[in-house]
Amino acid sequence: MSKRDYYEILEVSRTASDQEIKSSYRKLALKYHPDRNQGDKKAEERFKEAAEAYAILSDGDKRTRYDRFGHAGVGGAQGFDPSQFTGFEDIFSGLGDIFGFGGARRAGPQRGADLRYDLEIKFEQSARGVETSIQIPRHEACDTCKGIGAAPGTSPSPCPQCRGTGQLRYQQGFFTVARTCGQCRGAGKVIAKPCQACRGAGTIEQMRKLTVKIPAGIATGQRLRLAGEGEAGTLGGPPGDLYVVIFVREHEFFQRDGNDLHCTVPLAFTTLALGGEITVPGIDAEQTVKIPESTQTGTTFRLRGKGMPDVSGRGHGDLLVTVQAMTPKKLTKEQKKLLEQLAATLPEQAVTPSARDEDEDRGIFGKVKDIFG
Ligand SMILES: [Zn+2]
Ligand SMILES: [Zn+2]
Repeated sequence: MSKRDYYEILEVSRTASDQEIKSSYRKLALKYHPDRNQGDKKAEERFKEAAEAYAILSDGDKRTRYDRFGHAGVGGAQGFDPSQFTGFEDIFSGLGDIFGFGGARRAGPQRGADLRYDLEIKFEQSARGVETSIQIPRHEACDTCKGIGAAPGTSPSPCPQCRGTGQLRYQQGFFTVARTCGQCRGAGKVIAKPCQACRGAGTIEQMRKLTVKIPAGIATGQRLRLAGEGEAGTLGGPPGDLYVVIFVREHEFFQRDGNDLHCTVPLAFTTLALGGEITVPGIDAEQTVKIPESTQTGTTFRLRGKGMPDVSGRGHGDLLVTVQAMTPKKLTKEQKKLLEQLAATLPEQAVTPSARDEDEDRGIFGKVKDIFG
């Protein structure tokens, strides 16, 4: 039986990039891995076949020879021994402990974990930007031992179990697996005399106060990355990052839609009928809106560029003001008389008894002004 083409085995084209070859192999290796296909001879064959193809095609020289001379060019006729193949760790690193060896941790520095902090801010703070301080509990490198974990004046020694490699290797079936060393947990080093301050961990949990600068225009769900403010790394590895996730409290007057702001302004029906100028609160300053004569309730006026600032600093959204006709709750005798005179001149169906109520108006604007200081 003739050998199958390596490209065919890996299900890639002859012009596939190294990355395509690698990811296709990874997919096949996972699918046909013996641990997932216990006792399935066919799967084992496919697994070996893929490993052989990858060993050749992932090597620039061998791939060139294979392209020119076929299997004869790479000695494929003599068979292939996957146990001699060292590509597995590369392929499986980062997969976690799927097969017990994939996640084998290398000895050496590890980057610290990322942290998340949920920060609630006021609407006004999101509109104008704010600098605020937060407190986060995090692990920081121990000052006493400089993050090494050994008592001052002593230093860690190579792990006797794994001879400092952090991994234990042994044969499993037809290839070598590496497991994280249990004694040193992959660090490759053991500490005879631990630092007292951190009990050998190399890190200490501390409350850290940080200043966060929140840009104007930030919206709920957006996050800020504070590089290097996460957990400390181990064995001198770099720290992780801190992500501050923003939640903006709702505003009682404005509703945000993208960078646009919507608000509803109650007005006496006489203002809508006669027209006039009204003032509405804005995020920076009060805005004037011209109400034309005979404006219907529910009409929306768009004030360009008076909405939320874009978080990237590129301009502003719009402010959309919707007017709503208001009926006064109480009428004086005088007002009632005037309205009755007016009503007599209007068609019956369209009559809405109402009058301008200065106090009510001021009440609502006064309230919003209070909010914005
Ligand atoms: Zn320490
Ligand atoms: Zn060890």
